[in-house]
Amino acid sequence: MYSINECEIIDSFQGFLKELETLTYASYLNELIDISLVEQESNRDLFQLFVSSFYLMKNKVGDLETLIRAFEVKLLRVTGYGLNLDYCCLCRKKINSSKYLNFQYFGGVCPECEKSNGVNVSPSAYNILNYLNKTPISNVYRLNLATGVKNELKGILNSLISQNYAKKPKSLEILELLKGSD
Ligand SMILES: [Zn+2]
Repeated sequence: MYSINECEIIDSFQGFLKELETLTYASYLNELIDISLVEQESNRDLFQLFVSSFYLMKNKVGDLETLIRAFEVKLLRVTGYGLNLDYCCLCRKKINSSKYLNFQYFGGVCPECEKSNGVNVSPSAYNILNYLNKTPISNVYRLNLATGVKNELKGILNSLISQNYAKKPKSLEILELLKGSD
């Protein structure tokens, strides 16, 4: 019988996984365009957003996951489901932050209004969403987000996308499986 006392990593295929990640995200953006538009519909803003995102991905500018989240925020906006995070979406009072996002009215809720039809949100995720909403996609590479905030944003945007478009995107499923995340 043999026993293994030591092992050495010859090739972890990390580079390959990185390439696969880029390709998978590229196909995810295609899929998002497909599910968010009605056939024959043209959307110039969306086309510009798509082309800019592909250039940023190709040139490996900044964090890929943050770029994808920014794309999702902007896709929702240009297809009519944009978030408004400066006013309470129920009473229209001006707010700087909120602990609750209402999915029905696409915005933050002030402390006085009822918290329903949405999710709790951390102050940092709220700020980042607001920033991604207003900042041109070519500037998002300057952001360096903590993993916790990234996961929170992923969950929120995933819910908004599944809820507002007719189909749920599937492109990222294999990647999630390979990376072992949920
Ligand atoms: Zn309110």
